[in-house]
Amino acid sequence: MRRAWIISSGTELVLGQSLDTNSAWLARELAGLGIRSERHVTLPDTAGALREVLLAAVEQADLVLITGGLGPTEDDLTRFELAAALGVELERDAASIEQMRAFFATRGRQPTEANLVQALIPRGARALPNSCGTAPGIRIELRGVPCFALPGVPTEMRAMFAASVAPEIRSLAEGTVLRTRTLHTFGIPEAELGSRIADLMRRGNNPEVGTTAEFSVIGIRMNATAASEAAALEMLDVTEREIRARLGSAVYGVDGQTLAGATGRGLLAAGRTLAVAESCTGGLLGALITDEPGSSAYFLGGIISYANEIKRDLLGVPGGLLDRHGAVSRPVAGAMAEGAAVLLRADYGLGITGIAGPTGGTPEKPVGLVYVGLSTPATTRTFELRLGSDAPREAIRTRAARAALNALRLELLESAGPRAADAPSTHAPK
Ligand code: AMP
Ligand code: MG
Repeated sequence: MRRAWIISSGTELVLGQSLDTNSAWLARELAGLGIRSERHVTLPDTAGALREVLLAAVEQADLVLITGGLGPTEDDLTRFELAAALGVELERDAASIEQMRAFFATRGRQPTEANLVQALIPRGARALPNSCGTAPGIRIELRGVPCFALPGVPTEMRAMFAASVAPEIRSLAEGTVLRTRTLHTFGIPEAELGSRIADLMRRGNNPEVGTTAEFSVIGIRMNATAASEAAALEMLDVTEREIRARLGSAVYGVDGQTLAGATGRGLLAAGRTLAVAESCTGGLLGALITDEPGSSAYFLGGIISYANEIKRDLLGVPGGLLDRHGAVSRPVAGAMAEGAAVLLRADYGLGITGIAGPTGGTPEKPVGLVYVGLSTPATTRTFELRLGSDAPREAIRTRAARAALNALRLELLESAGPRAADAPSTHAPK
């Protein structure tokens, strides 16, 4: 399989003041073309930096893509670095000057001297037309390896990639297809999940399988390389079936699917409705649910019952429960869920109460202690979550809202019967 290096230039990127989104976009495009992105390098606008990396890149890569540093200002060094790496002079490209004049003419302006620097390209290189800006791209060949320098501005970069890069590099891929798929899971800690699929994750496997973790959601990424799209998809199907067989209902979705979407589909299939009562998540659960288009078919609404009085007076949580157990307790979470369902006349109610921190914890009730209540047409369940006393507030709130969604998702799977789930599962979220 052909390998590419992607280099981005910009001091602002290296300092973390803005995010390098170009490299990620290009890597995904390359994968679609059957070329593997092997390395991303981010460089400051410093003379010599690009030159040095470029020389290393062409030793190891079959293709090099560079973005940024083609602008008209002092810190835009890419063209000079390319010329230096090649050991040639820069020359004005007549076609690029023409294009630049036309670009400015439609705006009633003339290119400045600084703009005209952008029409300089290394001798022997090819200028790539810019359909939505002034800076042409530059294609050079260094030690026999094609290198493309594209503008940093994402819209210009994408247009130029599609028009001038993709058509040429398609033939580089030599009939290799790379297809990816991600399965999303909730509820199995990463280490345990990793040991259940360790053989599938072994280095050198095809599909290549790896995991990512974010706020209790573990993603399982699969990259399949094959001679055709059909063959790659078949390989992904086989591996997906194997993973689902091992992880059962912990798998809630594929690629763009979300936990809230999976839960919503369960409600829709059952013809049931949902209401929520939130304390420490402050509306996050409702936001996740309503991020899903079409959620109005099953979601009735919610109460943000942050104060004890609201839990008592609006949701009908008995004052005695609050006094005896405290607002952050199992019985209160259950009563909040029931209160939301009764008040909004929903089939299911979810309640969340907890300590999101960083302050407010005690030895008995530390930061990260969260209770989720789930009221169903038949019963009320409660779940205790211990999300870590040192976890950031955002992590605790997000994980709590997701755990609530997951509790309902599993409940709906269970009540729909074993055939709805891919395999039997254990239910208590941890
Ligand atoms: P440049 O071509 O370096 O002058 O970049 C022009 C603008 O494009 C910068 O000011 C950024 O806003 C944006 N840009 C440059 N490089 C990247 C990148 N790698 N990812 C996303 N945006 C970028
Ligand atoms: Mg720049």
